[in-house]
This record gives sequence, C-alpha cells and structure tokens, in this order.
Amino acid sequence: MNIHEYQGKEILKKYGVKVPEGRVAFTVDEAVKAAEELGTQVVVVKAQIHAGGRGKAGGVKVAKNLEEVRTYATDILGKVLVTHQTGPEGKEVRRLLIEQGCDIKKEYYVGIVVDRATNRVVMMASEEGGTEIEEVAEHSPEKIIKEVVDPVVGLTPFQARRLAFAINIPAELVNKAAKFMLGLYEAFVANDCSIAEINPLVVTGDGEVMALDAKLNFDSNALFRHKNIQELRDLTEEDEKEIEASKYDLAYIALDGNIGCMVNGAGLAMATMDIINFYGGNPANFLDVGGGATEEKVTEAFKIILSDDKVKGIFVNIFGGIMKCDVIANGVVGAAKQVKLDKPLVVRLEGTNVEQGKKILSESGLNIVAAESMADGAEKIVALVK
Ligand code: ADP
Ligand code: MG
Repeated sequence: MNIHEYQGKEILKKYGVKVPEGRVAFTVDEAVKAAEELGTQVVVVKAQIHAGGRGKAGGVKVAKNLEEVRTYATDILGKVLVTHQTGPEGKEVRRLLIEQGCDIKKEYYVGIVVDRATNRVVMMASEEGGTEIEEVAEHSPEKIIKEVVDPVVGLTPFQARRLAFAINIPAELVNKAAKFMLGLYEAFVANDCSIAEINPLVVTGDGEVMALDAKLNFDSNALFRHKNIQELRDLTEEDEKEIEASKYDLAYIALDGNIGCMVNGAGLAMATMDIINFYGGNPANFLDVGGGATEEKVTEAFKIILSDDKVKGIFVNIFGGIMKCDVIANGVVGAAKQVKLDKPLVVRLEGTNVEQGKKILSESGLNIVAAESMADGAEKIVALVK
C-alpha cells in the first residue's frame, strides 16, 4: 500500500527523521491559510499524488508570497499531472502539501528496500540525489552505495556513518546524517514498509539534514497490525478494479494489454502472462483467484476482468488442486451469463474434478473455446483477439 508524501513525513517525524514544517490542503483557501500559518518567507506548493517525478511535471512550485501560493494552488489543484511514474493518463491532484521552503545546499538520495538477492533489508544512498535514481542506477551504478542490514542487529551506527561518508556528506554533518538514516531504518522496520525512499535528502544552508521528499510503501500482508496506516489509504489514488478485487480478497493488478487472465496461484498467473507474451499477446491484468476460491469469488473476478474496456478476450487457466475445476466452471458460467459475455473466452482446466468442470462448460450453451494445454490456450486466445 502506498501513501502520500505528507503522510509519510508525519510518520518519519516520530522516528526523529527531520522534515520541513508542512500542512495538507484540499482547497486553494486552505493552501493560503496553511502558508500564512507556516509564516516563512518562502513556501513550496506540492501536488500530492501517489507518484514521483512531480517536480519535472510542474507539480512542485516555490512561492515567495501568499499571492503566489494562491496562484500555484489554483493552478495545481485539479490538474492532471503526467509524470514518468503515472503512465500517459496521469493522475488528478486533489491534495496539496504546503511546506516551508528549504535552503538547499545539496541533494542526496537514501532508500531502503527488501533485497531479494541477499534476502536482507538494504539501505542505498547516493550523492546524485534529486534526479531520477533509476537513471543513476543505469548510467553510473558505482554512485549508489549499499549497506546490507543484519536482521538481528539492525542497521548499526557505524554502517550509517560509513554510508554518509561514502556519499560525501560534509564531515561536520555526518553524525546528523547517520541519525537520520537510523531513524529511517527504525521507521521502515516498525511499520513493515516494503520501500522507504527519500529523494532528495538535503543538506541545508544552516547545517540541517532533512527529508524533502518521502515515499513509503507498506507490505499489505502486514497491514492488519497497523490500523493507523490502513487509515491513510487514499482510494481515489487506486485503480477501481483493484479496490473491488481487494474486497473479495483477489490478487488483481491492472496492466496495459487486452487479454484478461483468470488464474489460480501467483506462479501460474506469472507463467500465464509470460506465455501470452510468448505468442505475441499482451495480458490486461494479473489475477490470482487464490487456492480456495468460491463460486462467488470466481464470479466477481470475472466481472472485474470484464469491467475493463481494454479487454478483448479472456483466458481462464486453472490448475485444480485445492480448488476444484467444477467450482471454477460454475463460477465462469454464472458470471458469463450475468454479464452477457460477448467476447472470446478460452478455458484450460486441469486437475481435481476436471471432467465435471469440462462438462459444465460444454453444456452451458456459452461460446467457450476449450484448450488442451496452457500453450494451446495462450495461442488460441492471442489468435482470437487479433
Ligand atoms: P518529486 O520527486 O515528485 O519530483 P520532490 O518532493 O522530490 O518531488 O520535489 C522535487 C524538487 O523540488 C526537489 O528535488 C527539491 O529540489 C524541490 N523541493 C521540494 N520540496 C522543497 C522544499 N520544501 N523546499 C525547497 N525545495 C523543495
Ligand atoms: Mg523526489
């Protein structure tokens, strides 16, 4: 789960990570009032959307007086920002962060991720902050320094200082930077984050080390133990189909292609997407209906796939282990009748009760193309949507 920058900064503050003073605003008047309350010479008007790259897209503006705050807030609120992270359709701005302007001396990068290669939490830092870190990783990977964290000991002060020195934080500020990193690490672990990214971390004219941006992502499997974080969820930022899917406990992720996929098991879902690609098609979604899905769940999954206008055909690929093929078949038939399916549907069933499942499908009166194998099914659906 993702949250907004201003929410992330509120959390970080509690762990001793320094951030500029700021207030959230939902209207232009609230923005001006917030700037008045901050009372600083310069304030920054920042679009709050669940995506980075706002600065380059015109979503971060420095205002030198209240009139400018009003102008920028009017301009940015309601605007659809298109950044390298939003996709071409962009995201509408519904909230602003009004924040103290900061006298930046230099911008750095600090991020924490769970690294699959080492099976550890890794802190990364770079002196090339502010810009797209993806570019730095591609063109000058040696400028990204990493510290692998031992889960028993946690990030140690000496590792934090080593990172700070390695990215050339001025010597007199290394202790402040290390404290910042230790606080960030503590916040990451305590809140079950999957990503904590500060880009930029800045050194200021008056010798402070601060987070000017904050991106926190949370492991959704751990959200049940963080009520306070669940409350920060902003549904307007999420894909409607994904919200609907989460109500039924379906793992659904919308993608750009035109072949809707309904699969059980994340591994099989990934393999299905691969094989569709292999035959020259493009999946419209990732969808894992799970091991013990009910008929109702399958029906909802089917409806969600069909509510996507991009979908030109559907591939159901089920291996009935715990899940029984007849349950899937009933779900598919029920949903297809309810939504008056008028798109090609290819079904590949294998496993428990497969004969019953196939019988239900063939007697349903629906136009269903049966597939003999996963490859056969992928080839057929790709041909049908072309
Ligand atoms: P994004 O990463 O989405 O572009 P950031 O929050 O990183 O948004 O802001 C982009 C740039 O705007 C920063 O790199 C920094 O130079 C500037 N900036 C952001 N917040 C402030 C602030 N409070 N004071 C001064 N400059 C800021
Ligand atoms: Mg940033």
